[in-house]
Amino acid sequence: MEMDIANRVSVANRLIPTLPRPKDPTRIAKRIPEANNLLAALPRKECRHLIDELEQVALTYGEVLYEPGEQIKYVYFPNDSIVSLLTLVDQHQALEVGLVGREGMVGVPLALEIAISPVRALVQGTGTAMRMKATPFLKELRRSQPLQRELHRYTYTLMAQITQTAACNRFHVVEARLARWLLMTHDRMQSSPFRLTQEFLSHMLGVRRVGVTKAARTLQQNKLISYSRGNITILDRKGLEAAACSCYEIVKDMHDGG
Ligand SMILES: [Zn+2]
Repeated sequence: MEMDIANRVSVANRLIPTLPRPKDPTRIAKRIPEANNLLAALPRKECRHLIDELEQVALTYGEVLYEPGEQIKYVYFPNDSIVSLLTLVDQHQALEVGLVGREGMVGVPLALEIAISPVRALVQGTGTAMRMKATPFLKELRRSQPLQRELHRYTYTLMAQITQTAACNRFHVVEARLARWLLMTHDRMQSSPFRLTQEFLSHMLGVRRVGVTKAARTLQQNKLISYSRGNITILDRKGLEAAACSCYEIVKDMHDGG
């Protein structure tokens, strides 16, 4: 219990900086890089309201937060963790349709008052997140216009990401999709190297492992990444951006509000 309070205080310190609220919410996130951007964009008064209901949790690579058809018991605001949204086909084939990190929230259906998850939410990058139970979240959402505004905006960008990904999976080659996906992961983790097995990547991209190996080898030969035993390091960020398909910039601009 004491740990809990200590945790909340440390979270409060992070979410409510003693700085005046800047007009550009991304400036807060830049000053407190470990905090969730969506929460950081809320006015301080709103943050204080939410703090009591938020708890910091550690999310571990491979952990499943929801399965399709399951009830959403918590929403998650990732700090430095990353969560993949996967659609299941024929019960056993999974394909990533969205990626959520510090810019957003896991459990968006609840923001639309739907308590069931249509996707599998799988932790792809170990780190922390702020978690809130469904009932207090709905209560806060109905009360708080700034929270509604942020979630409407985020839901729109997530929808855009999902629709772009659907087209990307159909039309763009594996190498360009892998480059895009590594950039999206890098943006959210803000660190490199990160750990990713070929098996995991093949699920994320919906291709066989041999396809992932070939694409990773090409990126490596062009000195854009180094890839060894599941550890990926980005060596040339600009080069990787040039190798990625156009979907990367389109979705990024929407998240950045451009
Ligand atoms: Zn694409």
